[in-house]
Amino acid sequence: MSLTDITQQITKAEAKAGRPAGSVKLIAVSKVQPKERVAAVLDQGHRLFGENRVQEASDKWPAFRETYGDIDVHLIGPLQTNKARQAMALFGTIHTLDRPKLANTIARLAQETGNCPGLFIQVNTGEEAQKAGVMSTETDDFVETCRGLDLPVLGLMCIPPIDEEPSLHFALLQKLAARNGLTGLSMGMSSDFASAIALGATHVRVGSAIFGARVAG
Ligand SMILES: *Cc1c(COP(=O)(O)O)cnc(C)c1O
Repeated sequence: MSLTDITQQITKAEAKAGRPAGSVKLIAVSKVQPKERVAAVLDQGHRLFGENRVQEASDKWPAFRETYGDIDVHLIGPLQTNKARQAMALFGTIHTLDRPKLANTIARLAQETGNCPGLFIQVNTGEEAQKAGVMSTETDDFVETCRGLDLPVLGLMCIPPIDEEPSLHFALLQKLAARNGLTGLSMGMSSDFASAIALGATHVRVGSAIFGARVAG
């Protein structure tokens, strides 16, 4: 597969779902990928990327930005409060707002710096003990808390359990977003982005299908 293949598949899925072309943003997930592979995708003109670690992203993207100009990088992995300041300077959007303590820290830093990335609230739709995110039942309250802090909440994000039908989780996330008046849906990865688009995804996070398999580590 390649960037072109994935872009075409997204266009097809948008059309099939009766959604306007270009309504789904493709986040190319570049974590752990060799620099040459990332550069190849930049050379094709793509400018939206996803990383799951603050440190790795801050090692990688300043140099690419010097060469390629403006690049929008989104954080899609867990964020510790002590890295929030660094993350807010580095990422255009954070997809992993998942607890009140982090919300409070981001709100305080936003006040202080006058700048805040767009935010997605991560929902643990599978109620998995090892996974981050607020529980589905706590989502309405947490959205309200974040709005009370004046945080720019764009939508909801989920990572379905690997052994379950993802579309059930996508449908649940869509329902939770709709009832909270949120339009952003960050859902869908290499293996299931088409079904995520059918269920309303606005941001799909695709890594290995674009860059090839990640080297384990
Ligand atoms: C790594 C990762 C992805 C991309 O996964 P692929 O299966 O390679 O497409 C998407 N979302 C999150 C949160 C990830 O950590």
